[in-house]
Amino acid sequence: MKINTQRLLENIDRFAQIGKKGRIGVERIALSEEDMEARDLLKRQMLEAGLVVHIDQLGNMIGIRKGKKDLPPVAMGSHLDTVYAGGPFDGALGVLAGLEVIQTLNDQNIQTEHPIALVNFTNEEGVRFAPDMMGSHVYAGLAELDEILAAKAYDNPEETIGSRLKAIGYDGDAKPGSIPFHCFFELHIEQGPVLEVEGIDIGVVEMVQGIHWTKYSVIGEANHAGTTPIAYRKDAGYAAAQIQAFVGGLSREANSRILTTVGSIQFEPNTINIVPAKASFTLDLRSVDGELLLKTQEIIDQKINSIVQQQGLTLEKEVMVRFKPVQFEAAMVNAVESSAEQLGLSTKRMPSGAGHDAQMMAAFCPATMVFIPSVKGISHNVEEYSHDQDVENGANVLLRAVVKRAKG
Ligand SMILES: [Zn+2]
Repeated sequence: MKINTQRLLENIDRFAQIGKKGRIGVERIALSEEDMEARDLLKRQMLEAGLVVHIDQLGNMIGIRKGKKDLPPVAMGSHLDTVYAGGPFDGALGVLAGLEVIQTLNDQNIQTEHPIALVNFTNEEGVRFAPDMMGSHVYAGLAELDEILAAKAYDNPEETIGSRLKAIGYDGDAKPGSIPFHCFFELHIEQGPVLEVEGIDIGVVEMVQGIHWTKYSVIGEANHAGTTPIAYRKDAGYAAAQIQAFVGGLSREANSRILTTVGSIQFEPNTINIVPAKASFTLDLRSVDGELLLKTQEIIDQKINSIVQQQGLTLEKEVMVRFKPVQFEAAMVNAVESSAEQLGLSTKRMPSGAGHDAQMMAAFCPATMVFIPSVKGISHNVEEYSHDQDVENGANVLLRAVVKRAKG
């Protein structure tokens, strides 16, 4: 049994028209008018495929295909929202391939023992509202619904998740998490270069890296760049540069299993002839090894403290995100790997470098992911692309793995 490639590709293209940006890009920010339009289309397609559609209080969409038995559904899905100037595959692939799996089962008249659920999670990208992976976070019971509904937009404090859900008509009745899942599969583009460079068809995702996000501000004193001797300076910019070099060095050591990124830095007053009074920067720290992540965070904080103290500066620190690495259940990972092998596809076991809804769902039910190659590893960019053959392969692996777990 194989999916209908033509139908899937056409549907991906159809959704890519909603919020089309540039030649092949898509911009469909969560809870925007474009998101509403995409949701409306998905809802129509779910109903046409015979699914019973539930909208929960956070706008998560869950379409259920009946099984032979009244068991928890085998779920699959991802998200229809994108970043600013994003692409047509990040998220949409997992949702639309899931729909294609259901349409294929309909075509073949196959009824599985477990029901099958197709899920579109709200606000995976977290572009206007924090946190990211919002819908799955709440679905898995990891955050309070009321707090999340009150979350304000970064760019407009008048707007909340709750008000935007109402505005687009997706403030549903179902309690998030009230439909239990037997397990959850998410097909996604890799968003990195590994599969393409190594010529591998399918990434079998064993785990998701742990992530720490922290914001630091080093505070010194503004002073004249010509008249203030070095010994009298409290140069926040110099200290920040030392910290950045130290942090970057940690992931450049041989066999380092840690990824460090200082992705944003601002000086105040940010002028050529003034010693910076303040340097604010972010730290993105990731590892597949949870203990190493904690230990490295400690080493970095000690180093920052010692630099700040030695130079008579002060420090402000804001902890933004702390996600431990998530290990996916072996039986789920094996189901993906064996499905790919049965289809004659090459596979590689790998961690996910980015966060995904599946990592939140792993706290709710057994979960895992299927990766397909991203051309040049590009994503979160209008140039994001995956080849038709890879889309087809990924959807066929999803079909097999879902049918295996749902006992088709
Ligand atoms: Zn995504």
